[in-house]
Amino acid sequence: MSAHIPLSSIVAADGDRAFQCKPSATLAKTTCPYCGVGCGVDVEIAKVAVEGELRLNKVKGSSDHPANFGRLCVKGSKLLETNGLEDRLLSPKIQGQEVDWHQATEHVASKFTQIIAEHGPGAVAFYVSGQLLTEDYYVANKLMKGYIGTANIDTNSRLCMSSAVSAYKRAFGADAVPCNYEDLELADLIVFVGSNAAWTHPVLFQRIERAKKLNPAMQIVTVDPRQTGTGEIADLHLGIKSGTDTALFNGLLRYLQQHSKLDQNYIDTNTQGFADALACSKPWSIEKVAKTCDIPEADVETFYRLFSDSDRVISAYTMGVNQSSSGTDKANSIINCHLASGKLGKEGCGPFSLTGQPNAMGGREVGGLANMLAAHMDIDNPQHQQIVQSYWQSPAIPKQIGLKAVDMFDEVDNGNIKAIWIMATNPMVSMPNRGKIVRALEKCEFVVVSDCVVKNDTLAMADVVLPATGWSEKNGTVTNSERRISRQRGILPAPGLAKHDWQIICDVAKAMGFKQGFNYANPSEIFREHAGLTAYQNNGTRVLNLSALENISENEYNRLKPIQWPISQDSPEGIARLFADGRFYTQSKKAQFIAIQPKAPEVATTDAFPFVLNSGRVRDQWHTMTRTGKTAELTGHIDRAFVHMHPSDAKDNGIYEGDFVLLSSGTSSKFTDTDKPKKVIMPVKLQQQQRRGELFVPIHWSATNSSSSAIAALYSDATDAISGQPELKHTAVNVELCQFGNHAQLFTRTKLNHNLLNQIAEYWSEVTIEQGYLVYFSTNHADVVSELQVNLPLCSEWFSSQQKNDLGEVRNTFALRDGRLDLVLFSDSNAPQMDVNWLNSLLQLAALDEQQKSALLRAMPDPEFAQGRLVCSCFKVGENTIVDAINRGCNSVDKLGHELKCGTNCGSCKTELQQLVKRHIFEENVTILDPELNPLQTGT
Ligand code: SF4
Repeated sequence: MSAHIPLSSIVAADGDRAFQCKPSATLAKTTCPYCGVGCGVDVEIAKVAVEGELRLNKVKGSSDHPANFGRLCVKGSKLLETNGLEDRLLSPKIQGQEVDWHQATEHVASKFTQIIAEHGPGAVAFYVSGQLLTEDYYVANKLMKGYIGTANIDTNSRLCMSSAVSAYKRAFGADAVPCNYEDLELADLIVFVGSNAAWTHPVLFQRIERAKKLNPAMQIVTVDPRQTGTGEIADLHLGIKSGTDTALFNGLLRYLQQHSKLDQNYIDTNTQGFADALACSKPWSIEKVAKTCDIPEADVETFYRLFSDSDRVISAYTMGVNQSSSGTDKANSIINCHLASGKLGKEGCGPFSLTGQPNAMGGREVGGLANMLAAHMDIDNPQHQQIVQSYWQSPAIPKQIGLKAVDMFDEVDNGNIKAIWIMATNPMVSMPNRGKIVRALEKCEFVVVSDCVVKNDTLAMADVVLPATGWSEKNGTVTNSERRISRQRGILPAPGLAKHDWQIICDVAKAMGFKQGFNYANPSEIFREHAGLTAYQNNGTRVLNLSALENISENEYNRLKPIQWPISQDSPEGIARLFADGRFYTQSKKAQFIAIQPKAPEVATTDAFPFVLNSGRVRDQWHTMTRTGKTAELTGHIDRAFVHMHPSDAKDNGIYEGDFVLLSSGTSSKFTDTDKPKKVIMPVKLQQQQRRGELFVPIHWSATNSSSSAIAALYSDATDAISGQPELKHTAVNVELCQFGNHAQLFTRTKLNHNLLNQIAEYWSEVTIEQGYLVYFSTNHADVVSELQVNLPLCSEWFSSQQKNDLGEVRNTFALRDGRLDLVLFSDSNAPQMDVNWLNSLLQLAALDEQQKSALLRAMPDPEFAQGRLVCSCFKVGENTIVDAINRGCNSVDKLGHELKCGTNCGSCKTELQQLVKRHIFEENVTILDPELNPLQTGT
């Protein structure tokens, strides 16, 4: 949905941000907010008929942005559909009552001041986010560390890449990604470790896919317990047992030494600690690695040979490595292999941590983590404390690290933190041990939440909510995974009373009495100060150096082109590759090998909790769905949470495709209060690519859109001892079959009250569709229709049909409101699956004819609505249509694209198309009696 904004205010918002592209429209160049690839986006702003209003007309990838060169994935290409003003938080509220900004700011400032006066600065905390821009982050960190005087500010990036930060710092003495996206195209071998880049970093994945097409000699290896879409371009998949990565890379280090593949000169000249690291790797023979990782020895050997024999190797890793109780060790075990073979600081080489969030890197740069000062300086370094404090001229500077995310919420739970300000994040859904987070925020004396949306699980816990600007209004900078700083430009003015995060923070700071440090007129002033701090007393001691930008004018800032730091007087155009000279930022200037002793994940499976639970993202959703869940364009691909389970595990447990299961863990079972969202109930999808004994669930669903799909309830507080990153890829769970008498699909034009859904269903999950909402629900209630009739009096005419079939009773109901279709309920004992397009076509009509009414009562759609599950979101092509085309001879992704257009726009669905082609061509040629014997599907 496009936003309409008065012309007068858009011009005032940021006069320099846009340049003329044609007389009737302007083109704003900005950055996508949906992942760490950091794609450049061109937004066309056009005048519409209504005098004085503008429309964000369309988006396309910026052809001149070095991250994406014109490409966007499905999330990026639907940016405008997720940018509407419905669901926006537009005014501050105290205890649910709208107030003006003066009241809200004074209230937040006085409560924080009072609690600090009574209990000290350690009694307050900020929990911030990789969604913030660098300028927002900078002032939040400055307020907490330099003025309030505690380091109790941590970020949700703690949950996504803090282990990568710790590992870089241990090895290089600096949190510095050595390589860049171009290196991925130049590599001879790319090893994806714990990364489903095809879905999580799609544009980057497509760059790699293209590079491999141009250079078929390029080899791809995937290391992941699941065989995901990324594996579609892999030459080798290592489906390792969850948590065994360090064994695999220790074995590689040993192999390099045993096969004379070390770069001894590099080791001798540029590194320290090799002997100890090698000693730790000694026990890890190929045989032992294969046994520990539960993969074939031949595959281990093939991988080791590929790594050893390839000159240019990139290891690209994400949450599968980081979200672990040994995440830092996992990353260092990878870095060790690059150091030992000298595959670092050269074209096409390096250990590459891909960040999840759009500005996780920017947050790291300005001290968003509780264990860092600003500008990559260390809290426990007295010299760094002095540098930051003297630069800020601030009254305070912390001498010890603050509370990392999990510890922070523990202290809220213990009552030691009495005020917390949560900015642009939804910890009720993303933090582990949801039961504890609920309890902690309920108990907390003062909870402030600033966000751009009006409703999410965390906002529901707030004493004060503060409306912040969103993507199209925010104005500042972000840094992507390859250290590239890009401008996110304020295209539209703030709606309602919303303010930029940096303004909200500065206003509160000033109201707290800190008059001097927070008088900024615009984000460029903050950016200059940040750049100045990176240069201040640097003298080549810190790699993060933006000295060439510390004096840029506002005009230059507005026109800043994407650029990779460091950006100093010596390198005003930025630096693409770090450590080419073999000098690092440790005390000795040498890179450090780390001796790694592999360690099992903290929570082991037991008889009571026999399955390993893994979690991650799906293709079209972002974080907790507060934005990407708004549009049917992105909800059609996967419309509710699910549990992937191997068919043999399902068979052993008497579970069939589509059955509902209750998942429980040692953590969730501690919370027995029935009104807490402790239960996780989801339908099962059988998946050959799933390892036996392991399950996978998506992370995005919450209590805001479902009764029982928030999986954070199951995860324990286990964290990495060094990074503090929670173990969100591994916990032990039990699976119990849930029995429901009836399953239903409920289509409605207007959103139903969730209390009503809780009343009629044990399980429900709601999703936006084009013409309203679709609710899946499962229930043991005898007469749902009567309850709906009582609760929905505006629906005046009700029609129902009831039949019996072999499986039980089928009941189809629809209701009209003012003559228009308003509600349709398909209910039976066997989970109905009506085509959403059919219902959309009827919900948009002013009235139904008799044939349409009869079709609804018989649940018999017109055959044209038999597309099946949506695969290509851009051209709305469903699975059934694709399978038909494959059966007609379209036996490649290219042919499908030619015939149906699917996969020819953003390309995000191409790996799924590939999987469908493989599966259906294979099924055509082979009669599969036992799916376990299908080599394509098991990936063996
Ligand atoms: Fe946005 Fe997709 Fe690019 Fe990520 S890959 S920045 S989600 S367009």
